[in-house]
Amino acid sequence: MKELQKHLQLNNISYACDVPMTDLTTFQIGGPAALVIYPRDVEQIIQAARLCRELSPDFYIVGRGSNILAADAGLASPVICTRQKSPDIHIDDDGILRAAAGASTDECAKIAAHGGWSGINFMSGIPGTIGGAVIGNAGAFGSQIGDVVVAVEALSSQGQIVQFGPDQLKFSYRHSLFKEHVFTILRVVLKLSASSVRSLETERQEYLCLRSKKHVDYHVVPCAGSFFKNLITSSGERRPAGTLLEQAGCKTLRYGGAAVFEGHANIIINTGHATAQDVLSLADEMRSRVHAMFDVLLEPEVRMIGFNPE
Ligand SMILES: Cc1cc2nc3c(=O)[nH]c(=O)nc-3n(C[C@H](O)[C@H](O)[C@H](O)COP(=O)(O)OP(=O)(O)OC[C@H]3O[C@@H](n4cnc5c(N)ncnc54)[C@H](O)[C@@H]3O)c2cc1C
Repeated sequence: MKELQKHLQLNNISYACDVPMTDLTTFQIGGPAALVIYPRDVEQIIQAARLCRELSPDFYIVGRGSNILAADAGLASPVICTRQKSPDIHIDDDGILRAAAGASTDECAKIAAHGGWSGINFMSGIPGTIGGAVIGNAGAFGSQIGDVVVAVEALSSQGQIVQFGPDQLKFSYRHSLFKEHVFTILRVVLKLSASSVRSLETERQEYLCLRSKKHVDYHVVPCAGSFFKNLITSSGERRPAGTLLEQAGCKTLRYGGAAVFEGHANIIINTGHATAQDVLSLADEMRSRVHAMFDVLLEPEVRMIGFNPE
C-alpha cells in the first residue's frame, strides 16, 4: 500500500487513509477503508485504476455508495471513489448526452429537463453516479437507463480502454454486462429526444414529489434504497418485493440498529448505530419469512463489499 501511495503522490492524485465507510455510503455503515483514492477527473480514474492493478489488484470502485453495504471489518484493499464534485455533463444539438462516470445521476436528469431533452426524467432524484446507474441498470417509474444508453467507455481489468455499444451491454432488470465482468466505467453516452422544457420540468417535479412520499430521505434516515430486487416470474410478470415482504409481516421487524422502514417493507434503514451484521441478520429474517410464505427466494439488489467471501 505504501508503494501505491508513493505513486499516487507522484501523479498528484488525492487519497486518504483509514476513511470510515460510513462517510462513503448512504447507509452510513461500515468499518474503515485502508486507502481511499479521489481522482479529480476521468484521466485520473484511469491512472488510479492502472496503478491499483499493478500494485494492489483487488481494488474497489465506489460511486456515491447508494447501493452498497460495506463490511464492519472495513476494507483492506484500496477504494477508488469516482464521484465528482463538478459534474462533467454535456448535451449536444442532437440530444447526445455525454457524462463522466462520476457525474450525479440526478444532475444529468436536471440538466436534460432544463435543456428540453427527454429520456431520463425518470432518474430525477435517484441518488448516485451515472456509472453506478449503468452497472445496475437503474430505473424508476417503468423506465431504466439501459433504454437510452448508446455507448459506454470502460477500463478493463487488464488496463485497456474499451468502447461498448448498446447491443453488447446486456441490460435487463437491474442487470448489465458489468455485473458479469469487471470493468471500471469511465464515460457514459445517452441518446435523448427533444421535448418541451415546461412539460419536462413539471414532470420532474412530479417525480421528485412522488419519490419524497414513497422513499426515505437518506440524508436524514440512512439507507440504500430497495434492499431486494423485485421478482420476475418465468412469464415475465413483475412481483414487487415490497408487497411480498409486507404480506410476510416484515414491516415491524428490526435487528439491533437496523429496521424495516415503516413506509416501505423493502427498505432497510439505519436507525443510528446499525452494523452491517445487523442489516444482514435482518435481511436474512425478511428473506426467510418470504420464502416460508411464498416459496421464493429474494435476491439482494444492494451490493455487499468487504465481506469474506464476497
Ligand atoms: C433513497 C434511495 C433511493 C433509490 N432509488 C432508486 C431507484 O428508484 N431506482 C434504482 O435503480 N436505484 C435506486 N437506488 C439505488 C442507487 O441509488 C442506484 O443503484 C444508483 O444507481 C447507484 O449509484 P452509485 O453511484 O451510488 O453506485 P455505488 O453504490 O457506489 O456502487 C454500486 C455498484 O456499482 C459499482 N460501481 C459504481 N460506479 C462504478 C464505475 N464507475 N465503474 C465500475 N463499477 C462501478 C460499485 O463497485 C458497486 O458494485 C436508491 C438508493 C437510495 C439510497
